[in-house]
Amino acid sequence: MKKFGIVISLLFCIVTLSASLRVEYNSQRTSEAIVTTTILGVDYFNVYELNKAFSAIIHVDVLDGRVNINLYNQQLIVLLESSYVKYHDKVYNISHPALQYKSKIMLPLEFITTLLPAVLPEHIRYHGGTVVADFPVDNSIRRIVIDPGHGGKDPGAIGYSKRHFEKDVALQVAKKVKALLEKELDVEVLLTRSKDKFVSLQSRTEFANKKDADLFISIHCNAHRNSKVRGIEVFYLSTAKTDEARAVEALENSVVYEYEGGSAAVQKYDDVALILADMAQNEHLEESYQMATKIQSHLVQATSARNRGVKQANFYVLRGAYMPAVLIELGFMTNPDEEKKLISSAHQNKLARSIVSEIENFKAKFDQMQ
Ligand SMILES: [Zn+2]
Repeated sequence: MKKFGIVISLLFCIVTLSASLRVEYNSQRTSEAIVTTTILGVDYFNVYELNKAFSAIIHVDVLDGRVNINLYNQQLIVLLESSYVKYHDKVYNISHPALQYKSKIMLPLEFITTLLPAVLPEHIRYHGGTVVADFPVDNSIRRIVIDPGHGGKDPGAIGYSKRHFEKDVALQVAKKVKALLEKELDVEVLLTRSKDKFVSLQSRTEFANKKDADLFISIHCNAHRNSKVRGIEVFYLSTAKTDEARAVEALENSVVYEYEGGSAAVQKYDDVALILADMAQNEHLEESYQMATKIQSHLVQATSARNRGVKQANFYVLRGAYMPAVLIELGFMTNPDEEKKLISSAHQNKLARSIVSEIENFKAKFDQMQ
């Protein structure tokens, strides 16, 4: 009889300890902590900590085994599973390799304490166990506000069946967009409401401004008295508009009259707010237009919906946003077919996927231009 060999497997026990490295800024009182992890006796940190501490723009190309890191407008390339770092046309050697560890990209701490001070001495110094760096100027997209339209006492568009409301579809899609963005991009995603509650139009953009958001996406569903009308349209803010755009604008703005205090409230939006708000959005008009166009065509392609085009309208909710802002009408609640689709989770996933893909593209382009 054959004896079974005894296989002794040596389990590598990787002890990980969390600690941190302090980063102070020359001209600011704030500081950041780089979280470190000990892997086989060496201090490592997650590459995205560079984003937090130095506003680095990080692009990981796993297939190529490269990590592109842009810091203070300088480009460094780290090769995965190697200890080589390329900066300009020089190659530097660090004593431990960059690793993929538990699906994270980990760099040895000496990348910050030794390599960065060597290649960027004018921006980053290291002494006495602390990093002292220039406060990073960051213009990349790092915080996105998703605004599910309506809510609470304001149902928004009411479905053909009279059983479903725009406010619920908007919230469901917004939550899906948030989840996908957080999974796929290194950004913070905030919702103007995460429950079925009323939020005034003004406080939606105020929230985005206060949070210093870099993008504002308002999610809605449309309504029309003709139940045959269908399709997707994406808006960006402008006072120039077509009659049709004006009709949707009136619909979305009517919340102010209906739920925020009648004509006095409308007046409030129309006076000072308008002037300031238009100035705020004007600066981002081109970007908002670009994003609206991309989201529109991607949504139409992904869902085969009727393409109602990209439109300009003067939405209260887009006014006053100090960032690129668009408003998406995902379809008509008043069209029986579209209502059915809009309430289905599978269709909502498609819509969310499509919006997220274009936000990702927009971010990639936008960040590169910074
Ligand atoms: Zn709406």
